[in-house]
Amino acid sequence: MLCVTTVLQTIAETRSALARDGRAGQTVALVPTMGALHDGHLSLMRLARQHADRVVVSIFVNPLQFGPGEDYDAYPRQLDADVRLLERAGVDWVFAPSVEQMYPNWPTTTMVTAGDAGRILEGEFRPTHFDGVLTVVAKLFAIAQPDIAIFGQKDAQQLALVRRMVADLNLPLRIVAAPIAREPDGLARSSRNAYLVGADRERATVLSRALAAAAAAATSGVSAALAAGRSAYDTEPSVQVDYLEAVDAATFTPVSEGFTGDALLLTAARVGSTRLIDNVEVKF
Ligand code: AMP
Repeated sequence: MLCVTTVLQTIAETRSALARDGRAGQTVALVPTMGALHDGHLSLMRLARQHADRVVVSIFVNPLQFGPGEDYDAYPRQLDADVRLLERAGVDWVFAPSVEQMYPNWPTTTMVTAGDAGRILEGEFRPTHFDGVLTVVAKLFAIAQPDIAIFGQKDAQQLALVRRMVADLNLPLRIVAAPIAREPDGLARSSRNAYLVGADRERATVLSRALAAAAAAATSGVSAALAAGRSAYDTEPSVQVDYLEAVDAATFTPVSEGFTGDALLLTAARVGSTRLIDNVEVKF
């Protein structure tokens, strides 16, 4: 479907385009992204269309969620190509603000903090990341005032923390999760896959292979599952594993041997200079 997608660059024009009063009963879904859109993102747009009358996609590479030495400057930015894709996906509005628009008082002083759940797993390696994510997501919710917002299961910890923020701060919207979209060889789709060159692209499949091996061993318990995952990683010694861990799917707290119930296996690893994450649902 080709539709007219309006690109909004200021908060004022976004507020008036999306004003709750002017919606005439129509529901709005927000899909927050950092752009460099791929088929994984497009599955979120499709889900948004199924859940709401109108869809707004934000494209903003949020400096607040990048740590020193991370890829903020190098992060791919391709707004024109993204807008063309979103037109074909039937998206009504793209909110693509500048950093000055989002953070007129930089450095920002008021922040949302993710708490303990933001300090494990990704948070251990990216200590300020989730405070930055939750702060920008809260701002986007306040600007767009959506009825629902779509987040990918690919960033499982982010999804859990956003759900937690919505509950803790009584935010008036519903969060909908989109399943992980993968390449045919299992690699989770990601804007950062564009960094993978040469043999690193093939090596990167070790994340999903390790998770699949771990999931296959889940009937034997948490320790056996994690050991199977680590063995799969051993086949790619050049890949640096940041973590491979299991958490309770309901609480997002780490689980160990003896746990039974729904869990998530999560991993992060560095392939060359590219840091990738992935996860899978399992039952112990
Ligand atoms: P990003 O642009 O990387 O910040 O991602 C924007 C949204 O798309 C987040 O909610 C991600 O979890 C989601 N997303 C990114 N890649 C995938 C994928 N392969 N499958 C499902 N959701 C994804």
